[in-house]
Amino acid sequence: MRKLEDTYQHKGLRKKLIDSLRTKGITSEMVLEAMYNVPRHFFLDSAFDKIAYEDRAFPIAAEQTISQPYTVAYQTQLLNVHRGDKILEIGTGSVYQASVLAELGAWVYTIERQRKLYDINKSFFFKTKYPNIKFFYGDGFEGLPAYAPFDKVLITAAAPFIPPKLVEQLKAGGLMVLPVNEGDKQRMLRLTKKADGSYDEEWFDYFSFVPMLKGKNN
Ligand code: SAH
Repeated sequence: MRKLEDTYQHKGLRKKLIDSLRTKGITSEMVLEAMYNVPRHFFLDSAFDKIAYEDRAFPIAAEQTISQPYTVAYQTQLLNVHRGDKILEIGTGSVYQASVLAELGAWVYTIERQRKLYDINKSFFFKTKYPNIKFFYGDGFEGLPAYAPFDKVLITAAAPFIPPKLVEQLKAGGLMVLPVNEGDKQRMLRLTKKADGSYDEEWFDYFSFVPMLKGKNN
């Protein structure tokens, strides 16, 4: 087990990162503060300690990635998180995004399809700090019908289409934020579910995510 230390140097680098996110257009001070409070270097291999606060994605286990901080800030801001929100996240990965949501006071239900990542995350080092994160091994296209409905759904992998079961599991008035494939990039979409089950769409900027894949991987 590695030693987790959050030094003045880490905090200084983190503050610089947060300032750069503000410059890049992130306006929610709540989101920026939550990201300041979550030490990103804890979620990476210690080899990345010195560069953990660069605004880039990095490799994690099972050939997956921890999202770029700008992307995490962008998706979290669009999700308009309130304390007590019940949020379904697709793609646990490093647990960094889930921790930012938990730091904002949400109840997070996060699904990962890679067995290896799920197994690593079972002993998540921040469990005592964030008991409000629940981990599931499964296929995100299916969602978690037993725990539905959710106030919000966040997909952190490139979706080939809008997963219908996830729309079903959203409350009326609920939001879903997801990057949808468009050529070799994805365009960020926010859905607002209406009382009659249909939804409104708002389209935002282009991003590059790892693919959302069907089924589980043992
Ligand atoms: N939120 C993560 C980002 C990880 S990258 C973080 O903060 O680190 C996207 C993750 O989505 C990968 O771990 C990938 O294995 C996972 N994924 C892809 N398709 C999935 C699916 N159908 N169900 C669940 N997880 C999926």
